[in-house]
Amino acid sequence: MMIETTDFSKIHEKITNSEIPVGDLISYFRVKCKHCGHHRIMHDSVGKCEGVMNKPCNSGCDNFSPEI
Ligand SMILES: [Zn+2]
Ligand SMILES: [Zn+2]
Repeated sequence: MMIETTDFSKIHEKITNSEIPVGDLISYFRVKCKHCGHHRIMHDSVGKCEGVMNKPCNSGCDNFSPEI
């Protein structure tokens, strides 16, 4: 889930200019997946779970679904 040629200051600027508080973003990415139990942040932009640390997700989850 690495962002290539990351310009974090640009991203930071976008977040700051948006209406979204960083705390809200964090809670958004902390929502767990109904399929595999991993946080949203472990899933890539299309919703496929990439697992945690060096362990791949063994549920084969490829479609993030919030556990709420
Ligand atoms: Zn997973
Ligand atoms: Zn998942």
